[in-house]
Amino acid sequence: MIDVQGLHKSFGELHVLRGIDFHVEPGEVVVLIGASGSGKSTLLRCLNCLEIPNRGTITLDGEAIDVQRSDLNRARQKVGMVFQQFNLFPHRTVLENIIEAPVHVKKEKRDAAIQTARMILSQVGLADKEASYPSQLSGGQQQRVAIARALAMQPQAMLFDEPTSALDPELVGEVLAVMKELARLGMTMVVVTHEMGFAREVADRVIFMADGVIAEEGTPEQIFEAPQEQKTQDFLRAVR
Ligand code: ATP
Ligand code: MG
Repeated sequence: MIDVQGLHKSFGELHVLRGIDFHVEPGEVVVLIGASGSGKSTLLRCLNCLEIPNRGTITLDGEAIDVQRSDLNRARQKVGMVFQQFNLFPHRTVLENIIEAPVHVKKEKRDAAIQTARMILSQVGLADKEASYPSQLSGGQQQRVAIARALAMQPQAMLFDEPTSALDPELVGEVLAVMKELARLGMTMVVVTHEMGFAREVADRVIFMADGVIAEEGTPEQIFEAPQEQKTQDFLRAVR
C-alpha cells in the first residue's frame, strides 16, 4: 500500500531523513517511535506531500507519486492525516468541517457527502454533534471530528502524528478506541505515538527511528521485549 525507497529530506544544512526504506502492507498497522527530532513527523509529512523530499521514491497503492510536481491532491486523497492539533475550521459546524473536502476537492454532491459524513460521525461516536462548533466540543471530541474529516475522503491509508499528545489524559482513551476500531476494520495505518500500550495491543509492526534512519523494526513483542539495538534499548528505558 505504501512503499518508500531511499527517502532523503534536508532542511538547509540539516539532513533529517537519511535514507528511509519503508513498506506498509494493506491493512497493516505500523507504529513509529523514536526520540524527538529523529524525523518521525517529517517522514509522515513526506508521505502526505506536505514536505517535498530531496531524494527517493514514494509509491501509494501501486502509483508512483511525483512529489516534485503536481499530483499532490491525488496523494492527499489516498492518505488521510490526523495531527496533534486538530486544525478544524472554527467557524464551521462539525458537519460542515467533514463535508468541506469531499464537496470542494472531490466534487461530491453535497447531499451524498452529508450522508457519508453522518455515517462516519456515528462510527466515531459523535452522531449527536453534527451541528456543534469545534469550540463547543472537548479535545477528544474535536480529535474524533478530525479523524472523521480525514475518513470522509475515503483514504486508503491513515497517518496519525501524535493524535493524543495534546489531550488531557482522561480524553486519550476515546480517541485510541476510535483508532483501534479503524484498525480492526482493516484500515492501513501509520501511527506516531508515545502510547506504548496502544502500540503493543494494536500494532502489527513497530519501527524505531533514530537520527533519520530506521534503526530497528519488528513485532511489538520483538521491539518491546527483546530490542536488539543499543539505541532502541536506551530509548525504551527512557520512555518507560
Ligand atoms: P518530535 O518527537 O519532537 O515530534 P520528530 O521525530 O517528529 O520529533 P521532526 O519533526 O520530523 O522530528 O523533525 C526532525 C528535525 O527536522 C528536527 O531537528 C526539526 O527541528 C527539523 N525540522 C522539521 N521541520 C522543519 C522545517 N520545516 N524547517 C527546518 N527544520 C525542520
Ligand atoms: Mg513529530
